[in-house]
Amino acid sequence: MIDKQRVFNRNNRTSNGGSVVYWMSRDQRINNNWALLYAIELANQNSAPVHVAFCLAPTFPNASIRHYQFMLNGLMEVEQSLLKKGIAFHLLKGNPAKELTTFIRVNQIAMLVSDSDPLRIKQNWKEELDKQISIPHLEVDAHNIVPCRLASQKAEFGAYTLRPKIKKLLPQFLVDFPSLPKVIKASKADKTNWDEVLNWLNPDISVAPISWLPPGERAAQLTLNMFITERLNGYAQQRNNPNLDAQSNLSAYLHFGQLSAQKVAIDVIKANAPETDKAAFLEELIVRRELSDNFCLYNPSYDRFEGFHPWAQTSLNEHRADQREYLYSLYQLETGRTHDDLWNAAQLELVITGKMHGFMRMYWAKKILEWTATPETALAHAIYLNDKYSIDGRDPNGYAGIAWAIGGVHDRAWGKRAIFGKIRYMNYQGCKRKFDVNSYIKKIMQLNAQHKTKS
Ligand SMILES: Cc1cc2nc3c(=O)[nH]c(=O)nc-3n(C[C@H](O)[C@H](O)[C@H](O)COP(=O)(O)OP(=O)(O)OC[C@H]3O[C@@H](n4cnc5c(N)ncnc54)[C@H](O)[C@@H]3O)c2cc1C
Repeated sequence: MIDKQRVFNRNNRTSNGGSVVYWMSRDQRINNNWALLYAIELANQNSAPVHVAFCLAPTFPNASIRHYQFMLNGLMEVEQSLLKKGIAFHLLKGNPAKELTTFIRVNQIAMLVSDSDPLRIKQNWKEELDKQISIPHLEVDAHNIVPCRLASQKAEFGAYTLRPKIKKLLPQFLVDFPSLPKVIKASKADKTNWDEVLNWLNPDISVAPISWLPPGERAAQLTLNMFITERLNGYAQQRNNPNLDAQSNLSAYLHFGQLSAQKVAIDVIKANAPETDKAAFLEELIVRRELSDNFCLYNPSYDRFEGFHPWAQTSLNEHRADQREYLYSLYQLETGRTHDDLWNAAQLELVITGKMHGFMRMYWAKKILEWTATPETALAHAIYLNDKYSIDGRDPNGYAGIAWAIGGVHDRAWGKRAIFGKIRYMNYQGCKRKFDVNSYIKKIMQLNAQHKTKS
């Protein structure tokens, strides 16, 4: 049984029972998925079949073959696993509101379950869909450990205001998952023709797929297991050193929902590792990650200058006319042609591997503020580059991280300086004090050389 406080009834409609569809979108997995569990629970109560539908929109902002390859391979695994459980998987193509409405009508679906997502594009699809359907639409927060709408009903000021609210509710929500129950009535669908899907999408192929991180639910769990046995010990000390492979590399799996954050937390808590390392990791995984969802859910301007706190807007406005020593175009930034070899290396790491180290992400975004004409341009360029190249891009974490770096979101005011105003500043010398900058640059240059030989 799932905790009903995870469920948000989007349209307050009722049903007399019948088939259920789970519109899978953000949580692309079959294990440890509260939305799927709830859909099965409802279908079994109705002695009716449950279907899973995923709808591919013809275009998605800045998505390329890099992202589609990762996502579609994960979905192929979902389809196979569902088939074994007697649950049909339907790959719909087109505008999600329109396709889901037709699917519901044609298959005489009585109840719709969806997973939750605070981003504008998904919220718009849902609002459009809700206008067209007359069956209940139940949205389950399967992404956050503490349901985002329950943790807080407003945009939080920072981690320090959300943390106590989350901690209070963790005992209720950080519980073990039940295994997937048997379905009472099986559903059937034709197998997806995945080659045809890729042809239909015709994605941008200029951003190459990645091979260092295998996609899918099984691979995600293996990556988690490896992190726990090999790198969790030492995480607190080493995660901010870009020369070390000390982070978990789970963000892409979490972004595509191929892994449940709740399952990650459970495994980490049970791990045989120092408590300081576990606590540092859980702070990022739970408080920081769930703060990003809170930011995007309650701040409709999460990717705009207007989304910054008033103190930050005022301060950045006061420094609009400040002389910029360097001004770079989007092309110069994208191709890593600035005067700063550390920044160029970070940009190259992003373009080649699809993952810039977490520490470098902060420096990278702050320098874009310093080297572009306005904070609005900086914000737009940083979001464009992050979403285009990061395998975990287009995520609330990305919008919150960029808004933190450029607009002081979830941060406090610092001493005034040119261009930045009261926004926290970072510089090359500071990086040098933190880690061996030259080793990092050398590592990325070697990677680039290998990359050029291959392509
Ligand atoms: C400018 C900027 C842009 C960013 N863009 C993204 C993005 O597009 N997608 C993305 O998932 N994260 C983004 N982050 C947050 C963070 O840098 C990444 O989540 C992290 O580096 C991913 O690597 P990992 O999974 O190995 O992290 P680990 O250090 O192993 O952390 C584990 C998990 O905790 C969460 N987490 C870690 N750090 C943060 C953070 N600062 N804020 C919120 N959650 C966090 C992530 O879900 C991460 O997968 C951004 C941060 C900044 C400053």
